[in-house]
Amino acid sequence: MSDQTKIDALRHAPLSPRGLLIDGQTGPAESGKTDTVISPIDGSILTTTAAGTAGDTERAIASARRAFEDKRWRGMPPAARKKIMLRWADLMEAEMLALAVMGVRNNGTEIGMALKAEPGSAIATIRYYAEAIDKVYGEIAPTSDDVLGLIHREAIGVVAAIIPWNFPLMIGAWKLGPALAMGNSVVLKPSETAALSLIRMAELALEAGIPPGVLNVVTGAGKIVGEALSTSMDVDVIAFTGSGATGRRLLQASAASNMKRCYLELGGKSANVVFADAKNLAEAAAVSAAGIFRNSGQVCVAGSRLLVEHSIHDEFVAELSKAAAAIKVGDPLDLTTQAGAINNQTQLDQNLAYVETAQAEGGTVAQGGKRILQETGGYYMEPTIITGATPEHTIIQKEVFGPVLAVSSFADEADAITQANATDYGLAGGVWTADLSRAHRMVRELRTGVVHVNTYGGPDVTVPMGGVKQSGNGHDKSLHAFEKYVDLKTAWIKL
Ligand code: NAD
Repeated sequence: MSDQTKIDALRHAPLSPRGLLIDGQTGPAESGKTDTVISPIDGSILTTTAAGTAGDTERAIASARRAFEDKRWRGMPPAARKKIMLRWADLMEAEMLALAVMGVRNNGTEIGMALKAEPGSAIATIRYYAEAIDKVYGEIAPTSDDVLGLIHREAIGVVAAIIPWNFPLMIGAWKLGPALAMGNSVVLKPSETAALSLIRMAELALEAGIPPGVLNVVTGAGKIVGEALSTSMDVDVIAFTGSGATGRRLLQASAASNMKRCYLELGGKSANVVFADAKNLAEAAAVSAAGIFRNSGQVCVAGSRLLVEHSIHDEFVAELSKAAAAIKVGDPLDLTTQAGAINNQTQLDQNLAYVETAQAEGGTVAQGGKRILQETGGYYMEPTIITGATPEHTIIQKEVFGPVLAVSSFADEADAITQANATDYGLAGGVWTADLSRAHRMVRELRTGVVHVNTYGGPDVTVPMGGVKQSGNGHDKSLHAFEKYVDLKTAWIKL
């Protein structure tokens, strides 16, 4: 059977209503209320999820706290925890296609990308942290001979993981992997519009042997479940990925409650800088187009600003427009689709409003700009290129989180650096040049957490991912992610 046939067999599979997962038990919200889950592919109703309340969230936090205090998970030998987490990854792998299709029906990402970035990368991430569990040591400080200074790493307690809709499994795994590997308990709060595959991933964790209460899932509204987590006196860490507006609220809630740690992975307005000396402009244009238009631009690190050296501006925009026009937008469950659906109607409306504002402020739509495939009942938009935008324009300053690229030009390296750094964000960037020294200088000068050189996108779990400025703090991925989920404890021993 071809992969497409297998996908098609799953595309209309019934999805049962999903409850909350608290203390190892699946059940309804205490109010009995549910939220309807709409597919962005065609606007159809997929199923319902439980509409968690503040009371439900408190129950989940209490369960996580009990699990932490009685050491049912953190007290296990590291090798035993490793084995369970590896089994979890195996269970996910066994139903990889079903997880990917369920996720795509829920969030609209094109299946080709979803297979790699969603279950694919989530499985790799869980394995990476599982394998590290019994390879992370404490430290002995270089003290004088009459004392012994030991540095222990201890699990912190209850972690609230709050996840967005663009890559629920991958981003979920970035939090769950290191938090659980270090022995913490977790309350997971999926996005309202992409919860289904993440709930399944959590169920598989329990099936693999993660004890009840160690991983709880509360679905529902951000302003109810998310607020209850962020204002709780009994949550120790918030591990968040999402918008800057929500990140700001989390910091306020932390300050107003127990000063819990807030690790924030927020939005971006990442500059992809193309110098005239780039080796292969056609390739740079094709990769840059994919760097903004895959997953219809719903990628936090998307290269949503393109800075092109004056001398090649027109030629490069022509190449880019060709590449954008050739992108196949449509049915996310078709393996040949290159850009799937916009996750929800509100986001689609917001994308279109940004295009209107860009034009009103003096920008030109060089490519795309419109909603398409409305007859499907789903939410689709053309890959869109805006030229002529200047640094003060909204389209240069604000994250669209859609398939909209703003192109500007620069005079020289210094001008490129100034323009690239002139936003509140600092998530990612790109540099295209054949000059090795320039590439290194640009890596140093761009105020971002990630810089791609002669490519855009694709860093794996071995490297950290995080932003500077208003793109957030702390890092997901790599062994550095452990730092978010442990306390360092010093033992100072007189000999
Ligand atoms: P969002 O902030 O609206 O929602 C993210 C999560 O926060 C959801 O689970 C939501 O229910 C919850 N939430 C909403 N209000 C809350 C509140 N008051 N308190 C607590 N939780 C609350 O973001 P989104 O629309 O789901 O995702 C898009 C945003 O995420 C974009 O800005 C994008 O750039 C960003 N993002 C960043 C990264 C990264 O790694 N830096 C990755 C993916 C997405």
